[in-house]
Amino acid sequence: MRVVMPAGRPERSDALVLFGATGDLVRKKLFGSILGLCGSGRFGAAPVVGVARSEIGDDGLRDRAWAALAESGSPPTEDAWQDLARRLHYVAGDYGDPALYDRLAGRLSQLGVSRPLFYLAIPPSAFASVIDGLGATGLNRGSRIVLEKPFGRDLESAIALNALVRSRFPEEAIFRIDHFLGKEPVQNLLVFRFANALLEPVWDRRSIASVQVTMAEAFGVEGRGAFYDGVGTLRDVVQNHLLQLVAFLAMEPPVSSDADSLRDEKVKVLKAMRPLDPEHLVRGQYRGYLQEPGVAPDSDTETFVALRTEIDTWRWAGVPWVIRAGKALERTVTEAIVEFRRPPAMLFADDGGRPPSPNRLRFRMKPDGVITLTMQAKAPGDRLIAAPVDLEITEPTLVTEGADSYQRLIGDALNGDPRLFARGDTVEASWRVVEPVLLERAAVVPYARGGWGPEEANSLVHEHPGWTECSGLHHTAR
Ligand code: NDP
Repeated sequence: MRVVMPAGRPERSDALVLFGATGDLVRKKLFGSILGLCGSGRFGAAPVVGVARSEIGDDGLRDRAWAALAESGSPPTEDAWQDLARRLHYVAGDYGDPALYDRLAGRLSQLGVSRPLFYLAIPPSAFASVIDGLGATGLNRGSRIVLEKPFGRDLESAIALNALVRSRFPEEAIFRIDHFLGKEPVQNLLVFRFANALLEPVWDRRSIASVQVTMAEAFGVEGRGAFYDGVGTLRDVVQNHLLQLVAFLAMEPPVSSDADSLRDEKVKVLKAMRPLDPEHLVRGQYRGYLQEPGVAPDSDTETFVALRTEIDTWRWAGVPWVIRAGKALERTVTEAIVEFRRPPAMLFADDGGRPPSPNRLRFRMKPDGVITLTMQAKAPGDRLIAAPVDLEITEPTLVTEGADSYQRLIGDALNGDPRLFARGDTVEASWRVVEPVLLERAAVVPYARGGWGPEEANSLVHEHPGWTECSGLHHTAR
């Protein structure tokens, strides 16, 4: 049998140019990921050029990188640090100033760089200046570009941003990053579904009763109130992370594992998904949110959302997909639970004489990566009754969070592999799904910290077995 693999190997980028090099994301995450990447061999000896407004110079960037790595709790070894420090360079300027791009071009040329990867770790309001600046100096030619989230605030702004970036870069050079897709357990959804023939015959409306997705955090906005208040749960995690996850679970088998085959199937799911209906969506806000620093005292931003939708395809018609996400909930857990239909006749009851619980396949992606299949087996003893048993996959090398997701994704972008990045049409399709509830905002319902959000969320699942309890640990890790 032929293994259907992507053909060809694009050329590797020969430098990483980091717009936003003095910012929070670079300090908290990207220096560590770049350090890991340098040690992984996926980056050759390529330089890293920071670009931001502060006049800090090459040494200033090195000092910041060192401080960030030391603060992370696992400072680099001397060799690893020397390797990173040697690669770091810095160009200062305002993104709106055309002269900045001439200086950058000069620096890249001195370094012998001809195919850089530009990483825009900057506020979305600065995307247009940088894309135009790169285009005007010709730095876009033969280069790649990574755009940080959020990709637009709604359908209209996402379409406009797509048009802008496509006017300067071809689609295969554009990498819209969603770090959630860089996580091992999320990628494992794809492999688990399509490397096992066992699942395919039962992976549809005939065998599956419902699918439930939860992304819960046991903590609140934690000092990021000013950022979060302008965004809310729907934009922060549903439009991007959770709809991508649903697409992985619902997509048809792709014809190959190449980027376009995978992304063709993902976009079909999003196109077939019903646009969210305000009648089937609950917005919540945890009590105390309005007192968080940076939050407007009369804010109606949601910190919780629960919704029900359907995917109108032959495979999924009639199967409810219920999604909930929020902050200040009972535990920190990300899970997808696929619930199968019950047997057509109940031959064996459970201990209490009730129908046994249905089979469930549970993909837990946070705080750890564990897959559990709940089956029924004979309960020990004299009676012929059923009791649930879990078949659990906990093999750490397969399903733990593994390598840092930014490291993985930056490495992929440098290598020109867009499989784990969102394509432009996918992003627009996912905004189209959420657009109706952005336009018609239902009132937020207050909820107590430490529970599962507003009671009203239960109404979304009342005809079905209800929200299945999440198996996550009482774990507050981020
Ligand atoms: P910050 O505000 O901390 O950093 C912004 C960076 O952009 C700074 O380096 C700043 O330079 C530079 N900058 C902004 N405007 C200009 C300008 N006109 N000219 C030159 N430099 C400019 O942002 P974050 O790091 O928090 O976020 C960056 C991106 O990453 C955003 O898109 C955000 O949504 C995304 N993101 C952030 C996360 C986080 O945890 N922070 C998590 C996930 C995504 P200087 O400081 O020198 O002025």
